[in-house]
Amino acid sequence: MEMFYKSTRGDEKQVTASQAILKGLALDGGLFVPEKMPKLDISFNQLKELDYKETAYQVMKLFFTDYSEEELKTCINNAYDYKFDTKEIAPLVKKGEKYYLELFHGSTIAFKDMALSILPYLMVTAAKKNNLKNKIVILTATSGDTGKAALAGFANVPDTSIIVFYPKDGVSSIQEMQMVTQKGDNTNVVAIHGNFDDAQTNVKKLFEDSQLQEELSQVGLQFSSANSINIGRLVPQIVYYVYAYGQMLKQGEIIEGESINVVVPTGNFGNILAAYYAKHLGIPIKKLICASNENKVLYDFFQTGCYNKNRTFTVTNSPSMDILISSNLERLIYSLCEENETANKVLMNQLKEQGSYCITKEMQEKLQDFYGNFATQEETLHTIQSIFKDDNYVIDTHTAVATCVYGKYREETRDTTKTIIVSTASPYKFASSVLEALEGKATLRTEFEQIEELEKISKVPVPKAVEELKDALVLHNRVCDKEDMKYIVKKILGL
Ligand SMILES: *Cc1c(COP(=O)(O)O)cnc(C)c1O
Repeated sequence: MEMFYKSTRGDEKQVTASQAILKGLALDGGLFVPEKMPKLDISFNQLKELDYKETAYQVMKLFFTDYSEEELKTCINNAYDYKFDTKEIAPLVKKGEKYYLELFHGSTIAFKDMALSILPYLMVTAAKKNNLKNKIVILTATSGDTGKAALAGFANVPDTSIIVFYPKDGVSSIQEMQMVTQKGDNTNVVAIHGNFDDAQTNVKKLFEDSQLQEELSQVGLQFSSANSINIGRLVPQIVYYVYAYGQMLKQGEIIEGESINVVVPTGNFGNILAAYYAKHLGIPIKKLICASNENKVLYDFFQTGCYNKNRTFTVTNSPSMDILISSNLERLIYSLCEENETANKVLMNQLKEQGSYCITKEMQEKLQDFYGNFATQEETLHTIQSIFKDDNYVIDTHTAVATCVYGKYREETRDTTKTIIVSTASPYKFASSVLEALEGKATLRTEFEQIEELEKISKVPVPKAVEELKDALVLHNRVCDKEDMKYIVKKILGL
C-alpha cells in the first residue's frame, strides 16, 4: 500500500516519502506525518531472527513506499556498515535489572548517527527519483550531536552542501572540536551567540521565508533539513526500538507479546516520538518514560497539560537536551487532537506568539502512554557514580538523566515491567562531567588527559572519533549573532 504524508498544519497533502524527505519541513511550517500509521507485517517469531539491517528494511519499507526494495537495501547497506564499531549496530546491554540500548556506536559516538548515517543516502536517492535539478542545501540547528553526525553524513556527498549552526557556549568541548574540525569542501559550521532554541527557531524561519526560497531556486539550490523534523530522520529511529524488542525476545528476557517500558532522555522529542511510532507499529510498549534535565518543559507539560517555554534556559551537563521548544511534540499534539489541523495550528500559533499553550482535557486523557520526570545536574552526576559503583558500567550524562528518571518512576509506581533505557551518547563525549561524577569533584586536567583517565577507569577503549581529534586541524571559525543567520547563509551560498 502506498504511503503518503501530510503537513500537521494542513496545507500539504498526498506528499510522497521521497518528497517529504527532500523538503524536510512543510512550507506552512508544519511537520510531515504519515497519512495512516502502518503495522509491522512480520511475526515476533520472525522479528527475533532479524539482524539490524534486516529489521531496518522491515520498518522502512512500510514508510518509504516510493523507494524500491533495491534502493532501500542499498541505502541501508551503505549506512550500517564498518562506520559502526560493532556488528550489532545497536547492542542491548543488561546491567543488573536494567537494559541499556547503546545507540552510540556510530562514527560520531551519539545516537544521531543511527539516522544521520542513512539520511544522506535516502536524500540523494530521493533527488534522483524526483528528477531534482537543484542542489540541496542542508540547513541544521544543533544542540551538539546532530551537527557533527549530519556533517559526517553529508561531507563530500555530490550535489549537496551543509550549514550547521550551534550555540557557542552550549556544547561540550569534545562536541565543539568534532564540529570545527570537520573536513569536506561542502561543509560549513557556524557558532551563534544564542542557545539551541535561537538556532532552531531561526533555521525554521529560513525554511518559511518564501522570498529566500525564490532566490535560492534562481541559482539552482533548495533547502532541506537534517533535524528530526525531517521524516527521513524519524523513521530510521523507529528501527532500533523494533530491533531492541527482537533482541529482548531472542535473549529470552521476555516472551512474545510481553510489554516493555522504554526510558528516553529527551530534548527535541524526536527519539521518544520514534518509540511512540514503534508502539503504533505493534511493538508492545507499555510506558514511554520521558526524561528531562533541568529544562523540564516536557515534565511540566505531562503534569499540567500546559506547555510553557517562558522560563530561564539553563545550560546543563547534558547539553544535547538543553531545549525549551521541543519541535517534534507538534506531531504528538496533532495525533492527540485527532489530526485536527486547525486545532493544532491554533496551539502552535499560541506557542509562537505567547510562548505557551494548554491542551484540552480530552487530549490530556490520551497521554496515558507517557510518564514524565526530570533529573537535576546533581542527580545526574550522582547517578553516574552509583551506576559505576553498582554495575561497573560508565554512562554519559544524558543516559544518566534517563537512568535517574527511571529510578523515580520505579519508586513511584512499583512497576516491574522490563525496561529499556536508551543510551544516547558515549561517556567520552562528555568526559569532563563524567569524570567529575566518578571522582566527586571537577577535574583540572586538559581535555585529552581527561580522556586518558576515563579510559583507565572505564576500561572501555577510547573511540576512534575521539582519538582522531588529537591532531585534527580547526577548519571552521565562523561566529555570528542569532539575528545574522540569514545573512551568513546568503554569504556562504554566494547570494
Ligand atoms: C539529541 C540528543 C538527545 C535528545 O534527543 P531528542 O530526539 O532531541 O529528544 C539526548 N541525548 C543525546 C546524547 C543527544 O544527542
